[in-house]
Amino acid sequence: MSRLRIENLQKTFPDGTRAVKGSNLCIDAGEFVVLLGPSGCGKTTTLRMIAGLETPSGGRIELADQDVTHLRPAQRDVGFVFQFYALYPHLSARENIAFPLRAAGVPSHQREAAVNRVADRLAIKHLLESRPSQLSGGDQQRVSLGRAMIRTPSIYLMDEPLGTLDSGLRLDMREFIRSQQLELKVTTIYVTHDQEEAMSLADRIVVMDQGAIMQTGSPASVYDHPANLFVAQFVGSPGMNLIAGCIQQNGRPSFRPHRSDACIPCPAVTTAGDATLGIRPEFLRLDPQGPLSGKVAMSEYMGSVTFLHIDVSFGRLVVRADPNEMLRPGDSVRVNYSAPHARIFDAAGDAL
Ligand code: ATP
Repeated sequence: MSRLRIENLQKTFPDGTRAVKGSNLCIDAGEFVVLLGPSGCGKTTTLRMIAGLETPSGGRIELADQDVTHLRPAQRDVGFVFQFYALYPHLSARENIAFPLRAAGVPSHQREAAVNRVADRLAIKHLLESRPSQLSGGDQQRVSLGRAMIRTPSIYLMDEPLGTLDSGLRLDMREFIRSQQLELKVTTIYVTHDQEEAMSLADRIVVMDQGAIMQTGSPASVYDHPANLFVAQFVGSPGMNLIAGCIQQNGRPSFRPHRSDACIPCPAVTTAGDATLGIRPEFLRLDPQGPLSGKVAMSEYMGSVTFLHIDVSFGRLVVRADPNEMLRPGDSVRVNYSAPHARIFDAAGDAL
């Protein structure tokens, strides 16, 4: 279990691309932190600098209170799992998984016991004598996870390790990674662009965009209290409904969407002027007395829930509705919402 601290970490590539623009982050020993953001936001570059595979252009990396910024990867005691399994083709699955223990000089009977235990957890015992070329992509990725998680380094660094798996296997592997990490208490940084994966795994999520950290917090705090419009839209599936408009203070605050005569309730804020009101689909509801009128544009049936896309005068809203709600495109509806659950963002896009 080791603490990781990064201070003003930066990476500018020789072609001038500023991939990481000065990140600060402190990760507690044993914590599971997910770097979440869209493609190109700098997640992998951050992880590779922590692993020692990329040289920072500036800043400092401390692992277990030691400055490791300029140490070689082998001197950092990190366990790295890539999206693409880098298995040794001439070794069997068993030998691949045992490799880190063999390299560390662990006696063979202990290696055998450890490989069997990990293979059991990954449900790949029957594949242990196969070579990588005889395995499916999903099986190769399981072997690669087994090889990474058979030992307990100071920190696990995982770069989209489940990216190539089908959805059933993804869920199994998520469960394996989280249970193994909790058992071994190894500090873990996990990179993904999949916000559902981030929410389900993380103690803390670090949301990134364009080389910068947008917000750091528990999954619930990032979801409930996004720090800015980027996080509000990126986290959540579907994302938060965002309504551009203006806050008016006539005794109590109200919100008037642009391009609309509707005046809708607003959470208690003391400012006035241009702003964006954000509301999650689950806090909007169909209500014949609701202040917003619109027409159904599309209905997405998801099994346990239906998402209704409703065109109103100032844009489109997504409402989480009962799956039994039988509405068709073109149907007129009224929508109400829970004002205390709405979030207000100022003209610069930051949460008030
Ligand atoms: P993805 O999920 O697609 O891997 P990411 O968030 O991990 O994206 P990075 O791979 O860290 O993003 O890339 C960040 C930025 O740096 C991108 O604009 C990318 O094109 C650029 N980049 C990455 N590696 C290099 C390189 N070796 N030379 C120049 N630019 C690079």
